[in-house]
Amino acid sequence: MKRPPIVEASAEMPTSTRRAVGKSAAHYTAARVGALPSVFDDPEAARTRAAEIKQGVLDHLPDLLEQLEAACIASGIRVHHAQDAAEARRLVIEICRAASPAGGVVAKAKSMATEEIGLNAALEEAGFEPVETDLGEFVVQIDHDHPSHIVAPIIHKTKEDVARSFAREGLGEYTEDPEALTKQARAHLRGKFRSAAIGVSGVNFAIAETGRLALVENEGNNRLSTTAPDVHIAVMGIEKILPTEEDLALFLPLLAASATGQSITTYVHFVSGPKRGDEPDGPREVHLVLLDNGRSKVLAGPYQRILLCIRCGACLNVCPVYRQVSGHAYGHVYPGPLGAVLVPAMEGVEQFGHLAKASSLCGACEEVCPVKIPIPEMLLRLRAESKGDSWAAFAAGATHPSLWRSGLRLLPMAPKVGPLKAWSEFREPPRREGREFRKWWHSRSPVTPARSVEREPSVEHAAPRESQQEGASDAEALWARFQAQLEKLQGRIASLKELERLAGPWWVDGDAAERCPWTSTTDDVWEANVGVSLAVCAIAETGSVVLESGPAKTRLGALAPPVHVILVPQAQIVATLAEGIARMSARTSVIATGPSRTADIGGHLIRGVHGPGEVIVVRI
Ligand code: SF4
Repeated sequence: MKRPPIVEASAEMPTSTRRAVGKSAAHYTAARVGALPSVFDDPEAARTRAAEIKQGVLDHLPDLLEQLEAACIASGIRVHHAQDAAEARRLVIEICRAASPAGGVVAKAKSMATEEIGLNAALEEAGFEPVETDLGEFVVQIDHDHPSHIVAPIIHKTKEDVARSFAREGLGEYTEDPEALTKQARAHLRGKFRSAAIGVSGVNFAIAETGRLALVENEGNNRLSTTAPDVHIAVMGIEKILPTEEDLALFLPLLAASATGQSITTYVHFVSGPKRGDEPDGPREVHLVLLDNGRSKVLAGPYQRILLCIRCGACLNVCPVYRQVSGHAYGHVYPGPLGAVLVPAMEGVEQFGHLAKASSLCGACEEVCPVKIPIPEMLLRLRAESKGDSWAAFAAGATHPSLWRSGLRLLPMAPKVGPLKAWSEFREPPRREGREFRKWWHSRSPVTPARSVEREPSVEHAAPRESQQEGASDAEALWARFQAQLEKLQGRIASLKELERLAGPWWVDGDAAERCPWTSTTDDVWEANVGVSLAVCAIAETGSVVLESGPAKTRLGALAPPVHVILVPQAQIVATLAEGIARMSARTSVIATGPSRTADIGGHLIRGVHGPGEVIVVRI
């Protein structure tokens, strides 16, 4: 009998890969379990609220897309529509050719949408050099491999694998030290950021009311890819909309906690259009490519709710099948339970219906999904839809109680007829013992549902924890909270005096200069050892700072130097992420939380991969 493609692919997977995937997936799952209750008072209510908001987006998608487009255009973002992958590739290449007719480097931030459309191959064919700048994606690219996880692309590789790849590519001396390997990648990719004329990214959330694009990441490569080059192209699936910026206060921690167990990612970059005339850096053009590629079809069909997905990867991490077979076995850029529904729904049950069998139907994916997508229910439906599928009978039975009961009554006859007859000729099937489950279930005394199940979900219960703390208005308490959060992330608070010990040269932003009068400054931000910025405010609950572009404010000063000093005026501290978001002006901004980091190489946490490895906050 011919084995399904996923079984064929997984059979060839080395044991070391299976071990690496299992270890990392278990780590992310444990981190998620720990993070959710520490971020939300009621994680269940947060998930329910998130699902409601995203369902509202799907219900009003055409209107929200129009609203988003109008807001983007008003802020100077050029909007393009791509019906399918081919049109998206063509649009991106046209923009690239107009920006850089001679070809050259295209700095790419991690993006599932560009993986989906096969952008790298098309760029190469058109004479460009696409360079993946996320550490994991970079390893995938130099190995001519594919990502095997939507959040952790080299979950299937060990640090020894990465060491061999870097030595082969001449990035430096052979080493298995993750920190040294990270430094090699940083040095190599710096040159690419500096020479790239174009940067390409995905979009995590696009805000319909303001036209702002929110990009989340931990390394800093996304910000560098969308800041250093002259032109930024963002490719986004049409379902990635949120109605308001307020919604981000729920979705940013929910995504980070579900994906990697963080309370917020290191950077949330808010793109509000090209650089303005008075701003010293940033791209002069920003393009947004809105990608359909089968999403409208999914929206109109029975698998619509898979479009609620925010690409956290939690369902992959808990899936017993994914842990055994890894991402490559799925034969598509979207693996795991997410891919097993999304891929056949978008690209056809005939070609990809077999993916729905790659599940034990244990239900763990639905339990962890931050937007409560009923994945097992959709997998059963897909199995039923797959032509000639023996699972169809099971699915029909499992979803129709009367059919199921009749089947159970006939079950004892099964060994005497049909394909089991030969097998059972010389074997005695086990006898059923004890009471039937169904009879036991009906005979037990009624159980009163727990209060938490009865309670209606509300916005308050969904809010991140710190927003409800009493006494949050006290500035000293807020600073103490901020310091504790920052130190957890290995950032620190210092006095201006202490900074004198830091080696130069320094890059000091214009609006910070009068408070930070060092003379060892440089005109080349890329050469600076220390960058100094003045923050809009600090956020106590996450240990973050809000930075924004402006007449005397660079974006690269907060990114390129290995040490970042952030001056925060004493009174500019707020309690919650929601308040921090509300403080942002309409300019391109960032919420930065601790040093740049990665855990891509063998799960080892390394600081300073692309952005600053040392973050020092000074109260002024
Ligand atoms: S389906 Fe749910 S759990 Fe899986 S990646 Fe999407 S949002 Fe995360």
